[in-house]
Amino acid sequence: MPESCDVALPVPLESAFTYRIVNGEPPVVGGRVLVPFRQQRMSGIVVDLHERAPKVPAKNVISVLDSTPVLNQQLLKLGRWIADYYLAPLGEVFRSMLPLSAEFKKAIGYRITDEGRMALHRAGMAGSSARSRRTPQEQLEEFRLLDYLAERDVVREERLRSMGHASKALLSGMARKKWITREDLSQARNAARTVKIAVLAGTLEDGKRLNDNQRTLLDTLAAADGRIAVQTLREVEVPRTTLDTLVRRKLVEIVEEPADFHVSAVKPRPFDFQFTPAQQSALNCIQDGVTAGKFGGVLLHGITGSGKTAVYLAAMRAVLESGRSSILLVPEIGLTPAVAADLHQVFGEEVAILHSALSDQERAEQWHRIHRGEARVVVGTRSAVFAPVSDLALIIVDEEHDSSYKQEETPRYHARDVAVVRAKMANAMVVLGSATPSLESYFNATQHKYALLELRDRVEQRPLPEVEIIDMRQEFQETGQEQVISRKLAQEIKERLDRGEQAMVLLNRRGYSPVVLCRSCGKTLECKNCAIALTHHKRARKMECHYCGYSAPVPQHCIHCGSEYVYFLGTGSEKLEELLDGLFPQARIGRMDRDTVRGRQDFERILCALHERKIDLLVGTQMIAKGHDIHGVTLVGVVGADIALGMPDFRAAERTFQLLTQVAGRAGRGYVPGKVVLQTYFPDHYAVQYAAQHDFAGFYDKELRFRSWMHYPPCSALANVLMRSNKLDDVLQWSGLLGRWFESTRQEGIRVLGPAPAPIVRLKEDYRYHFVLKSPSREKLNNLLRAMLAYAAGEKIPRTQLIVDVDALWLM
Ligand SMILES: [Zn+2]
Ligand SMILES: [Zn+2]
Repeated sequence: MPESCDVALPVPLESAFTYRIVNGEPPVVGGRVLVPFRQQRMSGIVVDLHERAPKVPAKNVISVLDSTPVLNQQLLKLGRWIADYYLAPLGEVFRSMLPLSAEFKKAIGYRITDEGRMALHRAGMAGSSARSRRTPQEQLEEFRLLDYLAERDVVREERLRSMGHASKALLSGMARKKWITREDLSQARNAARTVKIAVLAGTLEDGKRLNDNQRTLLDTLAAADGRIAVQTLREVEVPRTTLDTLVRRKLVEIVEEPADFHVSAVKPRPFDFQFTPAQQSALNCIQDGVTAGKFGGVLLHGITGSGKTAVYLAAMRAVLESGRSSILLVPEIGLTPAVAADLHQVFGEEVAILHSALSDQERAEQWHRIHRGEARVVVGTRSAVFAPVSDLALIIVDEEHDSSYKQEETPRYHARDVAVVRAKMANAMVVLGSATPSLESYFNATQHKYALLELRDRVEQRPLPEVEIIDMRQEFQETGQEQVISRKLAQEIKERLDRGEQAMVLLNRRGYSPVVLCRSCGKTLECKNCAIALTHHKRARKMECHYCGYSAPVPQHCIHCGSEYVYFLGTGSEKLEELLDGLFPQARIGRMDRDTVRGRQDFERILCALHERKIDLLVGTQMIAKGHDIHGVTLVGVVGADIALGMPDFRAAERTFQLLTQVAGRAGRGYVPGKVVLQTYFPDHYAVQYAAQHDFAGFYDKELRFRSWMHYPPCSALANVLMRSNKLDDVLQWSGLLGRWFESTRQEGIRVLGPAPAPIVRLKEDYRYHFVLKSPSREKLNNLLRAMLAYAAGEKIPRTQLIVDVDALWLM
């Protein structure tokens, strides 16, 4: 019987912590335990059971939360890989893998101390101290609280608050005087919702009789095959005590069962889809891989409208029919209720859908359904890659280039890359699909790490849209003024509206005007927390920071010099909507951006209106570019196509190419061919040119050459090391320390750029400096980063202020 266990806790420390096992239920490796850590209680994952004596006296485990592992061997191994690859603390990785926070209830309690009793006693004898600087009201409240606590053991904070006994300030003040102590009372709770079921139990003994009410209930139960929810039974008009009597007489038993999360009565429909030969051969290739039962990767490069989704669903359906499991990852915005309905049609009750709108409790319930093997098809966003399915045969990553797969907080994993590693561990097949594959994935395919499958044609031989580039510099010269909507785009929109067709216009910037400038002193209005200009939101009548959410009133005068000459410059989606409304007053115009879409329901509502042709013209940010299929849209206009090209980021060209290709892909998905009008100030830029020609391979070659020259991914491994603090001095000092350390530990082949101010030098009150590291060898890079973290810990640089982002997507 092991005496100790090592526990990985969700704290920013690399090591596991040893605790003594006390009698009671023994912990298991991969299961959760509740343990004391500093002044708190925490739930962590047991990573080892052993007899080794700890170096320092170990505390006891408080309770064992799981008798069987919640992370099996494969997921534990995957967690270790993530911790190692992304240099993240193991406990924080495990926390990201398990959506079970609902099963742990945080609670704080307070208890009176001997000092507190003495204070109370003195107050009772002498009244309040004359020298006290506290107001009589404060003292009164303190003694009222002491009085209350003196009669009791430990009392929960929420109880004290609900009784109006205590504010946070009062409690912490009293704790500082040592009159009361704070205790963590957190505990596990059973988060699973249950329902009470009445079950017909015994038979009536001879000679015993039933009254009419009892008879009625028993008949109702019998008619329902002897099982019925207590709640339903309560609707029968008999006294509430009748059921209790029947239970006491052992004629009925009450059992508790987990509430079914989502009982959809939908039975899967037969799957009869007419595949094109290209779709069929892609499907065959995936199925051969699944049947082979060993790891294999496929990059499915299919142009927009080529029917990738049908291939995914058919492959997953086949896996389900063979009794095995599959996972489909989709980007954040992809899981609308309509998509969910389709999934239920194909997979019936065997599908678990994990999206960001689930509550913690619903998330935990879905997790348990998958864990119990009730759902063998999992569809979800990023963290669904950790779904606890057994006998995994297939993982599909849809729109694999999408940046929402990268988690932008610790652990900073990329779900696509984790999917590949998990498939390897499970001897499963992994499929990465996209119309615009990331440079990384396409590079891997050319290196034969994945097989490359291509769908080169749209379904039903629909043509790709014709793309016309409008040079906005020329438009300026010819019209003599700065235009938002070119004459050509206006004319094309008018033609579509006259013919009763629909159009979309993309402007990837929300709000009304992105900049407020004073013409007298030349200064702009910045966020008080970030080095970012505030955006004017006209309808909401405020200035807003798009990075931290700070908002301010719309200025009448310059806040720097008091001048009245404040100008609102530039155009966002809100202003574009207004301009289009002015040009086409009869058109019904919709807008889709983060201001009009707050949740999945809004997104769905706008798409629905577009589908039902209640909207003629849709304006929006990149949201309108994401994979939906509206047949009536025959024109896509792009305004400010090149906003991203101006960003100091090596992925700017790739992002622009992807966005332009994806949004162009929305045009002409029905019977009428589509057209795209692309307005730009950089008509010759290769990202714009290749997107206009629908030439992914051309773009890839050009971009890869640039990456290779500059030693950027995929030609090199990259990490961003960011230091942040609300004190500029801290950041400068840490930059200096780490800069000298990198200098002194020169590693062959590794390039260290920096320290330099991050492009956004101040964000959410923090100053930010960074290093960018590039290395031909990932192993060398990670060794250097690990040594750097050890050095930083020695120099007392807080781990939470030093961010290591391996394979960073953003260097801003
Ligand atoms: Zn001014
Ligand atoms: Zn801000």
